[in-house]
Amino acid sequence: MTLKDQNVIVTGGTAGIGKAIALHFAKQGANVAIFGTNPERGELVVNEIKEQSSGKVTFTAVDVSKTEKVKVAVDQVLVDFGSIDILINNAGIVRDGLLLRMSEDDWDRVLEVNLKSVYNTCKAVIRPMMKAKKGKIINISSVIGLTGNAGQVNYAASKSGIIGVTKSLAKELAGRNIYVNCIAPGFIETSMTSELNEVVKDEILRNIPLKRIGRPEEIANAALFLASEGANYITGQVLPIDGGMTM
Ligand code: NAD
Repeated sequence: MTLKDQNVIVTGGTAGIGKAIALHFAKQGANVAIFGTNPERGELVVNEIKEQSSGKVTFTAVDVSKTEKVKVAVDQVLVDFGSIDILINNAGIVRDGLLLRMSEDDWDRVLEVNLKSVYNTCKAVIRPMMKAKKGKIINISSVIGLTGNAGQVNYAASKSGIIGVTKSLAKELAGRNIYVNCIAPGFIETSMTSELNEVVKDEILRNIPLKRIGRPEEIANAALFLASEGANYITGQVLPIDGGMTM
């Protein structure tokens, strides 16, 4: 197994892409700590992982936008697992609308949950990773962070911000054997995209050369590669997984 005895934190690991990553990493032998806001869904995912894998799995109810709470949650993972080898920053939300009508609260909340969370988790894990002289951080950005999108200035700012953090932190930590990369998913079948109406979905599909929506497992495969030793000459990169949308 690629990740035998590796310890991983997955934020937003109770649904969609994060859940697919948590399941996939657990099957590869990792011990998985899931951070999320929904304890019922957390319990379901923990049970699902326990049925399929033999490693440790925990769920912590924590809003990743809250700096102090994230620090406490990360410290608990260190107590439970002994170290943190891999951090997957996946938690994210949308609050779409044209800037003309976007409330300050919608701007602030998306930036807090999608971008400040990355500051919070990275700040909490890098000291133990530096002590251990190893680590992999994988941030989930979006193609919207590369291209922008009308009606998503807050989301695009947060996802472009994640790319900036990834490249800067990769430079800060390269000498410490800590790798920082990000994945930019295109249009992936999750609850985040299921509410779009058919007209919007058809328009999106027209712009995807592979002519289909992606699956969460396809993002999990890429995360697994970046977390594995096979990716040990890759840092500070953005990997779009988008059916060719951004080529
Ligand atoms: P989702 O809504 O299915 O899952 C998001 C997860 O984040 C949920 O588990 C949710 O509980 C958690 N979360 C939300 N706010 C949180 C908070 N404050 N603290 C902790 N956890 C929180 O969405 P998804 O489609 O699986 O998205 C996962 C990531 O992928 C997001 O960062 C999203 O921006 C990104 N992404 C998704 C797509 C797509 O097409 N679905 C495309 C590009 C990027």
